[in-house]
Amino acid sequence: MTALDARAFEQRLDVFLQERSEEARAVRVGEKETSEQAAIVARYADLFTREQLEVLRETEGARDGAEQEAVARLRITCQEGIVEREIVEREDALENALLAARVAWKGEELSLRSAQARLAVEPAYADRDALGAVVLDTSSSFNDERRALLRERHSLESDVTGIAEPVARNEVEKGIKLRPVLGAVDRARVESTPAFTPQRERWLERLLGPDRDATPAHAHMAWIRRLSPLEATYTKERSVAVCVETLRALGFDLAAEKGIRPDLEDRPQKSPRACVIASDPPRVVHLITRAQGGLHDYEAFLHEAGHALHYAGCEPSLPLAFRRLSRDHALTEIYSFLLDSIAQEPGWHAEHFGLAEGDARENADAARFTNALLFRRYSAKLGYELDFWTRFPSDGGTPDGYEERLTAATGIRYPAANHLADMDAGFYSADYLRAWIRAAQLRAHLRREVGVDWWRRPETGARLRDLFREGTRPTTEEIAERIGFGPLDTEPLVAELGAPA
Ligand SMILES: [Zn+2]
Repeated sequence: MTALDARAFEQRLDVFLQERSEEARAVRVGEKETSEQAAIVARYADLFTREQLEVLRETEGARDGAEQEAVARLRITCQEGIVEREIVEREDALENALLAARVAWKGEELSLRSAQARLAVEPAYADRDALGAVVLDTSSSFNDERRALLRERHSLESDVTGIAEPVARNEVEKGIKLRPVLGAVDRARVESTPAFTPQRERWLERLLGPDRDATPAHAHMAWIRRLSPLEATYTKERSVAVCVETLRALGFDLAAEKGIRPDLEDRPQKSPRACVIASDPPRVVHLITRAQGGLHDYEAFLHEAGHALHYAGCEPSLPLAFRRLSRDHALTEIYSFLLDSIAQEPGWHAEHFGLAEGDARENADAARFTNALLFRRYSAKLGYELDFWTRFPSDGGTPDGYEERLTAATGIRYPAANHLADMDAGFYSADYLRAWIRAAQLRAHLRREVGVDWWRRPETGARLRDLFREGTRPTTEEIAERIGFGPLDTEPLVAELGAPA
């Protein structure tokens, strides 16, 4: 078997990625009860060999500029495939065991996913505490296998990249340094703490009631994010129509976007986490949500619509590397963060829900609170993950610092046993945080260039369309430069976190 040249590799990789994406989609939305990624990887095993990697490395060295970057992304994907080939069966087995896991609750046998979804809607504080505890017990019973998989992946990645240190390895892949990102977001968190503390007290009182613990458990987070006591305003039934209307004001007609395939149905095995699976951008982009009622449905829909419009809006003639591959997700998250932040605009609440000015301001403040809470959680999570992976080659992965850091940053208790379920691959937390910084910069830019009501002006959509056309090619740092900010300039973010709605 001889290796393919970069162009032939790209074409075959495209077909492979489409199959994998469709399989992931079927499991995610509950159409399939078992994940069979391993069979797909086995069929395309010829793509992921040392020989193939060598050919791509040579080609990358012989090119420059955008062409070199395109081949570099093929090479990185090939490296990942070599690792995947070795562990995909174990990953499938873990995924399938999680799908099969059951939680006993009030005389019912719930799937773990349904139990997690239930946490968002269980009305009594004590019930959420109790359900959270059994969910955590069930989920953390898989920690040994999660840790074993991380170890195996680490050892394979060290071998295939030649970089033994996990943090350095990820920095090379992303093309940035992670500690300066942490420094910037830690400072932003500290600077915005005086604004956050009273906001937190006010909203926890309103959302969790006076009998709550001083530091409530993270089991209440989904309930908090839904703004459940305001559910009568932010109904499940209206979420799609309001979001479609919101996008229309920006000049996006979701129904006319041929590439976007919405899946908005409620199924018991469907993951409660909304997502976009870009199987073949711009032609096939799945937009998947599962509404449960509450403001979070609206934010999740707008967030995922940002990804979907980005992927479905790219120039079809771009190479695969710039239509769907990327070194990380920091670019696409800018657009989803920008769109979901519309829920932080008082005018949006007034316009779509018929609220008086005071109520609209109040509810927008709730959205700002949950946004601040999540920003603080992720900033602490990045600090924890950097320590976790720095220690990893010597200690093999421990929860040290997880509970302390996340709890101190948020005032919500994140139990140590959750540290592995809460670990996204490849420092995704850093991608989110760069998007937090960038989306705030972009809003400052739009307020200046388009107006304070940028969120309902077609000029905003037109600017976004221009960016979407470039697909995944630019880095988030390039976007900062274009709008006149330094990559780690957190001034707009701190100003927003500190400002009343
Ligand atoms: Zn996202």
